[in-house]
Amino acid sequence: MYARVIVDISNDAVDRIFDYKALEDTQVGMRVKVPFANRTVMGYVIGLSDTTDVDIKKIKPIIKNLESVPKLKPEIIDLCLFLAKHFFLRLSDCIKLVLPSCVRLDSQREQNLYMLYLIYDIDNAINILGKRVKNQLSAVAFLSEQGECEFSKMVELFGRSSINALIQKGIVGKRAIRRFRTPSVQQVSCVKNLLTPSQQNAVDIMSNQDKTFLLKGVTGSGKTEVYMTIIEKAIKDNKTAIMLVPEISLTPQMMQRFNSRFPNDVAVLHSGLTEGERFDEWNRIFNGEVHVVLGARSAIFAPIENLGVIVIDEEHDSSYISETNPRFITHDVAEYRARQNACPLILGSATPSIDSFKKAKDDVYTLVELPERINGLSMPEIEIVDMLNEVLDGNTSPFSRRLLNKLSECINNKKQAILFINRRGFASFMMCRECGYRAKCDDCEVSLVYHKEDNELKCHFCGKRYRALTNCPNCNSTNIKYGALGTERVCDELHKIFPDIPIFRMDNDTTRGKDAHKKILEKFSNTTPSILVGTQMIAKGHDYPNVSFVGILDADVSLYNSDYKSNERTFQLVTQVAGRAGRKNNDGYVILQTYAPKHYVYRFAQHYDYVGFYEKEINLRQTTGFPPFSTILRILVSSVSDNKAKEVTKKLYDKAMLLKEKFGKKIIFLQAMPSPVKRIQTKYRYQILTRYVPDDKITTEFFNISDIIEKDVSIFVEINPNNLR
Ligand code: ADP
Ligand code: ZN
Ligand code: ZN
Repeated sequence: MYARVIVDISNDAVDRIFDYKALEDTQVGMRVKVPFANRTVMGYVIGLSDTTDVDIKKIKPIIKNLESVPKLKPEIIDLCLFLAKHFFLRLSDCIKLVLPSCVRLDSQREQNLYMLYLIYDIDNAINILGKRVKNQLSAVAFLSEQGECEFSKMVELFGRSSINALIQKGIVGKRAIRRFRTPSVQQVSCVKNLLTPSQQNAVDIMSNQDKTFLLKGVTGSGKTEVYMTIIEKAIKDNKTAIMLVPEISLTPQMMQRFNSRFPNDVAVLHSGLTEGERFDEWNRIFNGEVHVVLGARSAIFAPIENLGVIVIDEEHDSSYISETNPRFITHDVAEYRARQNACPLILGSATPSIDSFKKAKDDVYTLVELPERINGLSMPEIEIVDMLNEVLDGNTSPFSRRLLNKLSECINNKKQAILFINRRGFASFMMCRECGYRAKCDDCEVSLVYHKEDNELKCHFCGKRYRALTNCPNCNSTNIKYGALGTERVCDELHKIFPDIPIFRMDNDTTRGKDAHKKILEKFSNTTPSILVGTQMIAKGHDYPNVSFVGILDADVSLYNSDYKSNERTFQLVTQVAGRAGRKNNDGYVILQTYAPKHYVYRFAQHYDYVGFYEKEINLRQTTGFPPFSTILRILVSSVSDNKAKEVTKKLYDKAMLLKEKFGKKIIFLQAMPSPVKRIQTKYRYQILTRYVPDDKITTEFFNISDIIEKDVSIFVEINPNNLR
């Protein structure tokens, strides 16, 4: 028997499947140890065969099977092959996607709990022991009463020597049971709602159909309820489900809702887990102990079988495109798994991505709508405030007069408010007014952000920290200018205005610790009146009934991000943030501050007119030749050596020009240039940017020309990236 093996080496030169002679009990999906070029490496058996095309004399045997139960199930192996081909990934990198490192590298183990029990009945035990060993006798009596007790607890109660003596004498037995490190979720009872007619209709259309659906429903229209009902139906048919949410909306609330609806039947997978928790959750799924996987994007690779439905909630969210190697697009993976299992894929959103909505219009997806909020609640009114008027009237604070009015009103009514600003820290830069010196990172071509709390300047690209400036290192002036404000400063200023009102801050800086996120939200939800200030982490998934006011302090940050998705992203952001207000009592009010009050993005957002926005935006994309009418491909070349990066870029560009000749007008745009951020983490960055009429052949050729190995230079190809920086 011959085994087809992927070797665990991340290198283009060995990105093939190798044949080895199988051991007697080698099975498909096993991790094995194999000889490879004078060393031994780990490998993954992805197939077995009686024949091989390789010269038999050259075939080496597998050294050892590393497990008795294969970790890769056939469906997952098939998925890996798809990933490699579809996203131009190395096979060994695809394995990394489907097997988390704690599983792949055996860095975690199952944890056991030891239980003690009596082997003899109590009278016999006392007879054997005699009267002198008091502690042992009490331990025996205790066990006889309890039936069983945990080893460590017994040690705590009766002392280690007594317990060990009892075990040694064969009076007490010890057995191991599996202990699961399950992320803690507060148990709440959750009433099941009777579905509204439009929810019921959505459930009926989408259940059991081997299709992709776009479920479009405003925030609070009951989409989650629809997902849960369909998942429940799947479980009744003895099938399983994957429910994906963006990392930041995997809120305690969401977990509670799923846990109370499907008790002991949900595993969660997200970046906030400890390695031990991840290992156990993964194994619960692998062993078929749960029917539901709830997680962020990589949960799409969960080793769950017999899928009855896959849901991608907030499908427009940018986190579904993985930007780092191995790069993948969650929608494509989900689509493939849904077709593998002939089950529905449901993409849900209040503000679908332009791409998905176009597919719905073109009947590639089936559109299902939930047009209204539950209980006839209306969407909160959005008022647009022109910040230029504020400045002209002498108000230079971050808050407009209208915003302060409305915020005070909210507080006076003993309600809660949410203020959104998509910038963390205190000020976006520090600059000398005299000579123009600006504090920059040594390793990255970006301004440092001032964090007042730590009195430090931090690089938001590489994390490096610097002392804050008190005077200019260049001219010694103390006349320092602070850049655009962030969450920290907003909290500071609010505190001056509302000294007695609790203010909570939620951003990357305050949510580092384990469960920090959860704790802030718990405190906020239990405090009225109060104000929550945050970055886009507060935009999604939260359902707090007492929030009546939402302030969007500076939406323009996202609008002027200058890439083709910035309009789309701003529209989505405004709608999502606004959707946090008035979710129970119809008393929601939103103020949006901007310097571009007439911008169509804001106008459409103000009226929750998704379709109007879509029409305008899709026209723009068509006339300017941007996705979905074209594919954007970027080849990013980076190196610590500026010259080397430039050289390789030039070389690739020459090859790209040949493609331009070959494909002619189909290639709309092709240029080589320094990347917008010229240096990150000491590496210089150049890019070749191209746009072409969508065509797999062209994509393949661009990947092919980039598939070269250059010493000390990394080459990374991205399609329709979220961020060009
Ligand atoms: P979405 O996911 O679209 O934002 P949710 O499913 O979270 O909407 O529903 C919003 C709120 O309405 C939740 O508090 C939910 O419990 C409640 N809800 C959903 N469906 C119903 C229903 N049929 N009857 C009563 N309340 C409902
Ligand atoms: Zn200066
Ligand atoms: Zn840096």
